[in-house]
Amino acid sequence: MMSLVPSVVTRFAPSPTGLLHLGSAYSALIAWTRAREAGGRFLVRIEDTDIRRCRREYETAILRDLKWLGLDWDGEVRRQSDHFSDYGHQLGRLSGRGLVYPCFCSRAEIEREIAASAAAPHGPDGPLYPGTCRNLTPAERKRRIAAGREHCIRLDAARAAAAAGPYDFVDEGRGRLEGQPLLMGDFVIARKDTPTSYHLSVTVDDHLQGVTLVTRGEDILPSTHIHVLLQRLLGYATPLYAHHGLITDATGRRLAKRDKDLTIRSLRESGLSPEEVRRRTLAAAAGQA
Ligand code: GLU
Repeated sequence: MMSLVPSVVTRFAPSPTGLLHLGSAYSALIAWTRAREAGGRFLVRIEDTDIRRCRREYETAILRDLKWLGLDWDGEVRRQSDHFSDYGHQLGRLSGRGLVYPCFCSRAEIEREIAASAAAPHGPDGPLYPGTCRNLTPAERKRRIAAGREHCIRLDAARAAAAAGPYDFVDEGRGRLEGQPLLMGDFVIARKDTPTSYHLSVTVDDHLQGVTLVTRGEDILPSTHIHVLLQRLLGYATPLYAHHGLITDATGRRLAKRDKDLTIRSLRESGLSPEEVRRRTLAAAAGQA
């Protein structure tokens, strides 16, 4: 008899902008363990939509390090840059409902606008986009696009929030959280150089890949509020979330890709076994408050 309970599907979704380090290996280890404990599936997805920063050699190195660590994955690795049309299609659905708009502002213009405004709204990553292009007329938008002006696409967060209605989601450690659709303001949903952004492609892929449990660092928790917003707008189910603590160094600073000595490659080259590196990864994580 077929089970009606969907089995656990987790994923590890690195951006290939550097080598795998202890911090991201911890994320991978959690996702892999949760899938294997449940007899479910563990997927690997390469999030390379930021085509200027991502490198194929890092992708190869990350996959090699995962294999070396013994974190085997199910099915093929999904590389986001091979699927731009999937994201473009979903962007078109949002656009057809009037939920997005083109933004022609340069970074410098946005900074000037924020500096000039008395009470610029702030989000988790600093000041939010002040909405300069939100009220351009359709004719003006057309004129600028026809003139070849570079632009990204932003979600009109207030309209999107009204269209989605109130929503919530569950984080395993934190319980049920009320969705905050305005947390990131009118965030970029498609960058200037690609028909997508991290937020859109992660939402589309978690849906297309049938992910049921998203395990990732707590630094991404603010983004989850808008990923669930996008799920509501696009008619997707919401997975369960488990945001974990970040591994930090002795001074409390979180590990970054620049901490070269803590890459899996350097630990491997220093002669440690995969078991020892996995043990050290968990020990480093357990050292967290
Ligand atoms: N690609 C993201 C990163 O490397 C992770 C995104 C996610 O797990 O949703 O930080």
